[in-house]
Amino acid sequence: MPKAIAGNHIIRYGTPADQKFLLGSYLACYDQLALNANMIGHAPAAIASLVTQRLRAKSFFVDPQTHAFQHSTSYLESQGETTAGRIKRSIQTLLKAYGQPLEEKILKQRRPVTSKDFVNHAIRRAFCERVLDFQLNAVQNQVRGSDAAKYYEYLKLKGKSQNPTEKLRPAFLVAPYFYLTPNLISEWLNLNFQFAEIARKYADSHNMKLAIQVVLSREFLGNSVLREEVVSAYRQTGADLVLVWISAFSELTANEEELYGFVDLLRSFGEIGQVVNLYGSYFSLALKLSGKVTKLAAVAHGLEYGEDRDVVPVGGGIPVSKFYVPKLHSRLRFRDAVRVVRELRGFKDRESYFKNVCACRQCRKIIASNPEDDFAKYGESQTVIFTRQGQSIALEYPTRDAKERCVSHFMWCKKAEFESNPSRDAILDDLREAAKLEQVVGPEAAHCTTWSAVLAKL
Ligand SMILES: [Zn+2]
Repeated sequence: MPKAIAGNHIIRYGTPADQKFLLGSYLACYDQLALNANMIGHAPAAIASLVTQRLRAKSFFVDPQTHAFQHSTSYLESQGETTAGRIKRSIQTLLKAYGQPLEEKILKQRRPVTSKDFVNHAIRRAFCERVLDFQLNAVQNQVRGSDAAKYYEYLKLKGKSQNPTEKLRPAFLVAPYFYLTPNLISEWLNLNFQFAEIARKYADSHNMKLAIQVVLSREFLGNSVLREEVVSAYRQTGADLVLVWISAFSELTANEEELYGFVDLLRSFGEIGQVVNLYGSYFSLALKLSGKVTKLAAVAHGLEYGEDRDVVPVGGGIPVSKFYVPKLHSRLRFRDAVRVVRELRGFKDRESYFKNVCACRQCRKIIASNPEDDFAKYGESQTVIFTRQGQSIALEYPTRDAKERCVSHFMWCKKAEFESNPSRDAILDDLREAAKLEQVVGPEAAHCTTWSAVLAKL
């Protein structure tokens, strides 16, 4: 059985636009891929060829995104001009694969599912198994009969790999799950547990590792009683992994109490199995690097929309173009980034920029004879004028090139962070040093003070 967690760095493949930053030389930037089920629903053949060929059989798992069906169905509807109001095609594919009770409630009645829809054990089990079947087979089924299948047969004959098709399977399975707030516990917690129990049997019979995905609202971080209620419900599932996602929780804006609550939660889940934070920033990585949460196996993040995520809307997100400042471990609006680079004396000359700001592959390409002028390439924008209610409105948008440069730089910075091996003291020193930038960018640097305070006390 291949390892469930391939390394400490997981990237979420959220939109087709992400592909550019996952392939080629970027393959070296991360260890494992989290694939959204709706991406597979969107273009299964394309995903299959991506996984098998262009990703060079990189380890992956599928987030079944079952929580999408407990929110208002309006989040599942298309926004397109001609298709507005219809359930998105990628979601329809998922609904078909997941079957009842989703098809009936969502497609026919246009209402979200409730836990009552799963009261019948046979329905519950059939649904659970279909969700797991989808993860296990979506890529394999596409490959069967294709050229890639012949290639895998060839590898097998040549004895290059014992079982090459194993690469087409996800590294582990994720039990169906629904989102929990303090108010939703009575409705969904027990059902989540039952899904995990069914999934455990399924995973065993397929010789697979099992993950439970726990998606919580931020309130849990401030309430240890509620946290214990959730953790204890999952203790008996026998899951190998716990994937944690706190909705709309940004480690960058969190206060100390929330961060302690978060650490406590990760440690408690560590009593069940290996833990993965599905949307984490450098703070989570620092917890791992400093050995403060021993069972934290990996931290995941997306590409353009940052390191935290709300449960709705499901998938996608509005891309923003910001420059990731390695010293602050956060993205800043371009103008703020310029202030920080100046403060760090990064505009003095090329070598100073590389030493004090960033020496990643992208920066080395851009920063040449005049760092200040060259740095502006990260902030290039264009004016777009459009008419709203008879009035002309001009808006500044980053150019596509500028956005791509920012994402590329972000990917290389993240690779360096995840591959670094600082001591806890070195992490604290760096954060305290970075906190001084609060004089330059105010609250944009405040997390450095908060993080170092929390890490120091752990
Ligand atoms: Zn860089």
